[in-house]
Amino acid sequence: MTVPVVGLTGGIASGKSTVARAFALRGIPVVDADQLAREVVAPGSEGLAAVVREFGDDVLLSDGNLDRKAVAARVFADPTLRVKLQSILHPRIGQLSQQRLAEVPRDKPYAIYEAPLIVESGLHHGMQALIVVAIAPELQIERVMARDGRAREDAEARLRAQAPLERKLAAATYVIDNGRALSELDPQVDAVHAKILSALGGSTR
Ligand code: ADP
Repeated sequence: MTVPVVGLTGGIASGKSTVARAFALRGIPVVDADQLAREVVAPGSEGLAAVVREFGDDVLLSDGNLDRKAVAARVFADPTLRVKLQSILHPRIGQLSQQRLAEVPRDKPYAIYEAPLIVESGLHHGMQALIVVAIAPELQIERVMARDGRAREDAEARLRAQAPLERKLAAATYVIDNGRALSELDPQVDAVHAKILSALGGSTR
């Protein structure tokens, strides 16, 4: 048995990692799918070999790491390639995430699984609850531009490639509004944390 898993999702630059850090500060273990996505294609991994078989070795940097930007540009331009990449990465990320969640100490009340595509892949159905970080698309575009140094058009295209916020909100158990100052996140995280603990109450933890 693993501890209950609470999903944490939201669009690109909505503030998932920022919110995840706030939960981690409250002692809640966080498994980060983006981090796992890097691990499954680490140099020497079987996942990297599978990517190179599909994409060719020009997606390798001279130091043996995957050229993530080159792969991202290619799958962004070609939906068929994107599906192929996902079919390599998703099962491996899924397996590793199960392993990491199973390693969470039993004295933790729950663990957070942070991933951008929880709703799209239907993973929330198997979870205790789902937290969605909400932010208006215009602000999201500004934060993508600021954080990743992208041009507006590029940021807009990335947003269009994702499921709309409404779809994620429809699946949410809890919503955290990150359209305001960072200082307004902590009280919301405290409130959601308390609600999760209370929903879990009655269990023997
Ligand atoms: P995600 O993990 O969803 O991609 P991040 O947590 O990395 O998003 O947040 C995206 C960017 O926006 C980061 O540079 C982060 O520091 C910044 N950010 C997050 N929340 C706020 C906020 N409330 N106000 C201003 N900037 C924020």
